[in-house]
Amino acid sequence: MERLKEFCERSNLIYLTKKDINSISNRTGKEPAEFVDTLYDYDGCSVKVKDDARKVILDLPVMKSKADTTCVFYENGCTIYPVRPIACRLFPFRVDEETAPNGDALLNISYNPTCPGIGKGDVVDRRKLERLVSELFMQRASDINPQLQSMIASGAISADAKVYRTFPGKREKTAMTQGHPCG
Ligand code: SF4
Repeated sequence: MERLKEFCERSNLIYLTKKDINSISNRTGKEPAEFVDTLYDYDGCSVKVKDDARKVILDLPVMKSKADTTCVFYENGCTIYPVRPIACRLFPFRVDEETAPNGDALLNISYNPTCPGIGKGDVVDRRKLERLVSELFMQRASDINPQLQSMIASGAISADAKVYRTFPGKREKTAMTQGHPCG
């Protein structure tokens, strides 16, 4: 419970894909454990199975925060700008994910109205934005699906298992991206 409380209070919503983690690690020389935050101990696997295989928890990795809740790579600006996560490249846009009645995933793009850059600069290219959102979704699916499929195949997940997802940060309904990238 203590860890859950700390995770909810301290974690941000800068989701990291495996590609993000590898790029940042290669660029900085840091081990993923130094900047990746997850509810359970980070071991590279986002799928945790609990309660005799009846509970599946998608423990999606997010960026670690400093004590003041700003990103660990923020020092008077982004110190890893060329390899910043896809979620940061999307900001201030955010994506809420829904499941349509036919099972398709629906990705709704909105934006964080508190961003001071809104209304300034060039108009965002809608197609580029949609490509970025789609890239994030596809990267996440390819991070999680093979793990899930192999666990299902090995019987590690029960047929009636329920799936939960960790939601760091304090927003109630957030699916794919962060609230504020730098803190
Ligand atoms: S949150 Fe800000 S400082 Fe951290 S990686 Fe993203 S852009 Fe860089």
